[in-house]
Amino acid sequence: MVATIPACGKKLSGEISAVGLTGEELTLEKAAVQELGDSLNGNLLLASDGGYDNARRVWNGMIDKRPALIAACADAADVQNAVTFASERGLLVAVKGGGHSFPGKSVCDGGLMIDLSSMQSVNVNVDDQTAVVGGGALLGHLDTATLPHNLVTTTGIVSHTGVGGFTLGGGMGRTDRKFGLAIDNLLAADLVTADGQLRHVSADENPDLYWAIRGGGGNFGVATSFTYRLHPFDPLSYGGSIVYPFEQAKDVLNFYAEYSDSLPDEANIEPVAFVSPDGVKLIAVETLYAGDHTEAEQVFAPLRAFGQPVVDEIGPLSYQKMQTQYDGAMGHGVLNYLKSGFLPELTPASVDAIVESFDGERVSMVWFQHLGGQTARVAPDATAFAHRNVHSNFGIQGFWTDETESDERIAAIRKHYAAVEPHMYGFYTNLNEDTEKKTWRNYGSNYKRLVEIKTKFDPENLFRLNSNIKPESLS
Ligand SMILES: Cc1cc2nc3c(=O)[nH]c(=O)nc-3n(C[C@H](O)[C@H](O)[C@H](O)COP(=O)(O)OP(=O)(O)OC[C@H]3O[C@@H](n4cnc5c(N)ncnc54)[C@H](O)[C@@H]3O)c2cc1C
Repeated sequence: MVATIPACGKKLSGEISAVGLTGEELTLEKAAVQELGDSLNGNLLLASDGGYDNARRVWNGMIDKRPALIAACADAADVQNAVTFASERGLLVAVKGGGHSFPGKSVCDGGLMIDLSSMQSVNVNVDDQTAVVGGGALLGHLDTATLPHNLVTTTGIVSHTGVGGFTLGGGMGRTDRKFGLAIDNLLAADLVTADGQLRHVSADENPDLYWAIRGGGGNFGVATSFTYRLHPFDPLSYGGSIVYPFEQAKDVLNFYAEYSDSLPDEANIEPVAFVSPDGVKLIAVETLYAGDHTEAEQVFAPLRAFGQPVVDEIGPLSYQKMQTQYDGAMGHGVLNYLKSGFLPELTPASVDAIVESFDGERVSMVWFQHLGGQTARVAPDATAFAHRNVHSNFGIQGFWTDETESDERIAAIRKHYAAVEPHMYGFYTNLNEDTEKKTWRNYGSNYKRLVEIKTKFDPENLFRLNSNIKPESLS
């Protein structure tokens, strides 16, 4: 038997099998699917449709999942219709912003993928110094729209990452020590909650949700737009890399541990150990000074005088060039695996563990995201993001293209992580592979309030493909 979905002009043959919230099999009524398709200003994609494969694809090439339906939403009303459809049927839901979740939380087998990739508008209000951004925009869209106005807000270091997951989990970047995390600049959001309602969320409206979405990830609904505070900023910034042979790695990191403690908020300094294309292990220190260039020269002088670098590129540099320099190396479709955690401090023992474990063969790189400054001046309970007093976020990453290497690569990254883990405390929820067991501990004293808000707004745990906070009835 063949049915037609008028909105999409598609033919639907047979029943549609799907997967429910707890993995149970569901059969979706054709008339209801047809109605959903009809209601959307965007498209409803089934497995047989052109565009389905492209829409289900996410950044990490390790992930290959096939939703039963993809609602490629054009606006907030589409998201409301999709959420209501899933909620009424207990259908598994995945929400795709930029698709950069390392463990592939934005796609699922057999459920409904709510794809926000068409919702990428950015509207900058120069007078108010704010930007209103669609829930499926990428970080590069935001930088590209704000920088010509000599304005910026904190975005991450790869421009094709989505604002959605990035912001809801915290949002670290090169300017966070000066301007705070993305959540510290989030003034408001529009959120479709599990009951299908579109709620404006800010300090004045739905303040409990406003607190929870600043670090609580996608647990509370689908953000269809974000409003960010912007800051005056010179797009010709100052910074760049200084690179050392890996033999100097311990000295470089021990120097960094002391030097980084004394830096002003403007300075962001992030070591990264990697292997050059010709197979040489190196350690680079990436720098940005979000301020005056003369001050920058003075602040970076001790770093530039240290050790025997093989490359020193520090100087005036386009901020956007810096923000896109890893876009190619971190391209879509490559097989990726990552383990990470926060380092409360960098000690000689943690430096030894980091350097001695880096094999540079199966582990592709290890990196630091420098925190402190403004990120540490916000109280741990002011937002859901509790890790305010850490030195850095530390990651151990592998990327490769040959699937037969996957087991060995993953094992090596886990081994490296096991050596550094005793020096870590907690983790960045945006980067963890599977956090259910550890989530409560990671949120510390904020967890109880998160559970209360989750219970109120998502009692069935519709939004569960994230660093999941379970409602009371399911805990
Ligand atoms: C190459 C790369 C570079 C990165 N660099 C940084 C960095 O510099 N700083 C940093 O802080 N993090 C960084 N990250 C981590 C990044 O913040 C997370 O991977 C984040 O989840 C990506 O968001 P996304 O929207 O692209 O991902 P998605 O895979 O689309 O989503 C991730 C999670 O967020 C949910 N979600 C996404 N959008 C929405 C929305 N609009 N409403 C509700 N839920 C939503 C999804 O359901 C999923 O649970 C990086 C990741 C990668 C892969």
